[in-house]
Amino acid sequence: MYHDLPSTASFWSFLFTIDQDLAEKTRKQGCPCGGRLHCANYPRQPRGDDDQLPKPQRIRLSFCCDRDGCRKRVTPPSVRFLGRKVYLGAIVILISAMRQGPSPRRVRELSRRFGADRRTIARWQVFWRERFPQTPFWKIARARLVSLAEIVALPYALVDAFLSRHRRCKGWTLLLRFLAPITIPGALRIEVSR
Ligand SMILES: [Zn+2]
Repeated sequence: MYHDLPSTASFWSFLFTIDQDLAEKTRKQGCPCGGRLHCANYPRQPRGDDDQLPKPQRIRLSFCCDRDGCRKRVTPPSVRFLGRKVYLGAIVILISAMRQGPSPRRVRELSRRFGADRRTIARWQVFWRERFPQTPFWKIARARLVSLAEIVALPYALVDAFLSRHRRCKGWTLLLRFLAPITIPGALRIEVSR
């Protein structure tokens, strides 16, 4: 059973550097209109993260096109933020996965620590059970996980696929990278949480 995230601050900092790399790649590609992308990050205050995330990292990296008449916002994929909402992706995954496991007491502990109430967690469950499997991303990505004999319960099966083969920190990093394509605004067209 996977019952916690890597606890070190260096894990979150490491994820932030991955986000910076992903952002740089996006910036270099420029706007689809041919315009240049300028930095237009927006603040994020993830719930219950006070000691998890240093202040300078509480931003979603994002850009804005510099061309008049376009000014389109372009937001790169992220290994930290899932969807548009305030929880860190890893927390949404972990708590949802644990709901499918045998230790409700740990779920309560984690929920308290990250400030996620029952209704929020229930919404996450709906997301993993009903929405996520319908995404174009998953329909394709699923084939890349062929070594999984059967994917019975999401996201537990995903956590298991990555963490059973790697140490905790590496496993989480790989899993979050794997899911990064769905973090682009519009990729899901749903709200992960409120
Ligand atoms: Zn543009």
